[in-house]
Amino acid sequence: MAYKGARWFLRCKLNGFLRETTGEKDEKGGFVSFLSYLCNMIIHNRYIPTKKFYAINLFGVIFVRHGVHLHAKEINHERIHTAQMCEMLFVFFYLWYVTEWLVLLFKYKDRFVAYKNIRFEKEAYRHGDELHYLRHRKRYAWLRE
Ligand SMILES: [Zn+2]
Repeated sequence: MAYKGARWFLRCKLNGFLRETTGEKDEKGGFVSFLSYLCNMIIHNRYIPTKKFYAINLFGVIFVRHGVHLHAKEINHERIHTAQMCEMLFVFFYLWYVTEWLVLLFKYKDRFVAYKNIRFEKEAYRHGDELHYLRHRKRYAWLRE
């Protein structure tokens, strides 16, 4: 078990989001870049998320299933969620997320359609391709989805 744990830990990778997605360095420095460094953590592992998903963002840390390579737009998608989480003080993000999903599930009677229509997901899917989106994104942009 300890061996497995150690291997899991060794698989952890720290990736700079800005470097990876835009080829540019974060010039802000100091506390902001320290924060973005923490929030850019991507952990490859065998357990989170479950098999149906390739990645999940938990409190700003992106967990990726072992063997899955995240593309820039997928990392961007998850980083948009991190921005949304910060606006909602993390806890309220999850409360809103689950509540809206349940309401939409009642409306559409389809888990996947409900998931795709959550405001947070709509914004993240709509702008996942725009790798500079987070630089000019307006606060609480998901409210306008
Ligand atoms: Zn998403």
